[in-house]
Amino acid sequence: MNFSLEGRTYVVMGVANKRSIAWGIARSLHEAGARLIFTYANDRFEQPVKDLVSTLDGQDALFYECDVTDDQAVSNTFTKIKEDVGTIHGLAHCIAFANKEDLQGEFVDTSRDGFLLAHNISAYSLVVTAKAAAPLMTEGGGIVTLTYLGGERVVKNYNVMGVAKASLDASMKYLANDLGKHGVRVNAISAGPIRTLSAKGIGDFNSVLKKIEEEAPLRRTITQEEVGDSAYYLLSDLSRGVTGEIIHVDAGYNILGLS
Ligand code: NAD
Repeated sequence: MNFSLEGRTYVVMGVANKRSIAWGIARSLHEAGARLIFTYANDRFEQPVKDLVSTLDGQDALFYECDVTDDQAVSNTFTKIKEDVGTIHGLAHCIAFANKEDLQGEFVDTSRDGFLLAHNISAYSLVVTAKAAAPLMTEGGGIVTLTYLGGERVVKNYNVMGVAKASLDASMKYLANDLGKHGVRVNAISAGPIRTLSAKGIGDFNSVLKKIEEEAPLRRTITQEEVGDSAYYLLSDLSRGVTGEIIHVDAGYNILGLS
């Protein structure tokens, strides 16, 4: 079994800063020898992402702006990637957004616009990027997205993002079925809570972290690196028989019932 990703190219979408889960994934793929392509939402992120990537020794990365709410932007991005590198071997989709007011209080108060926004950026974006990226995976490939327990169970304050994650989980499975015949696998990692820019928007996030530290089987929270290494597994041949799966990287918290 070859554990190296040398000679392989992966697209990482969603690095905002060094706390981003996408950055943990980028580092794991880089350590395994992969060439990386980064996409970011708008030009505000360009320099910070380039500065971060410059810390990866010997990484010959490429960078593209790609707002996933814009179909043409997604299509143009993967057309450019095809022109610049030809084949890719995988994609990490680490993108989500909801209005702050929809991540507190009660789900029943979610506005139509807030509901559609969260689903557009956090769930439909996987569909549109998978459609654009899969044809570039001419040697087969893997797509990994990031989900959360709030899509399977009711988690306080997670609200509309939980419902969007349920849509993302189902989209992942339908995509796995569509793209499997082309040798493309699609999986999700359900990460435990990590303090990132996005997580800042979720009401009372500190209490969530504390609860995990007290109750999760491993009695601790998890790190970007741990998610990164599981993404490496899902994007490499190690997981070649796995598709349509949700792997929980959450210190075991999801197995708990009443305590
Ligand atoms: P983050 O804020 O670092 O990353 C979110 C990314 O989404 C940012 O890079 C942002 O620019 C990008 N994004 C938002 N709107 C976009 C758009 N229109 N076009 C392109 N990109 C856009 O936060 P994170 O926690 O690393 O989030 C990454 C993924 O992990 C998300 O799907 C999130 O829901 C998921 N996740 C996070 C946690 C957690 O506790 N942090 C737990 C489970 C799952």
